[in-house]
Amino acid sequence: MSIFTKIINREIAADIVYEDDICLAFRDIHPQAPVHVLLIPKVAVESLDQLSAEHRDLCSHLMLVIPKVAAHLGLTGGYRTVINTGPHGGQTVFHLHIHILGGRSLAWPPG
Ligand code: 5GP
Repeated sequence: MSIFTKIINREIAADIVYEDDICLAFRDIHPQAPVHVLLIPKVAVESLDQLSAEHRDLCSHLMLVIPKVAAHLGLTGGYRTVINTGPHGGQTVFHLHIHILGGRSLAWPPG
């Protein structure tokens, strides 16, 4: 079981900023920007590579929740979304998650 499933199950604490039946958003424990939130599906999918057609509605839902969470967090100046996938992508927690970063101007390209 990943650490994020434990957060969903309230077995470990997190600063939750949004929740519905399908997903949960909470502040990253090591923020890389003034606002750094992780949006995760409640169903345990390891990464983008494990998605299939059965997840179509889930993916749509997550995409539609991103701007809601960003607005709730006051990210009126814009924000960045990142999905790290696999070792070369820098993924460290193997439960699909979308980073939502903002609150300052972000450099491009990433490292
Ligand atoms: P990844 O590197 O897999 O894309 O991102 C995983 C993120 O999860 C990291 O930014 C890391 O700081 C965050 N993280 C890892 N463990 C915890 C935790 O227990 N609580 C919270 N809130 N964030 C965590």
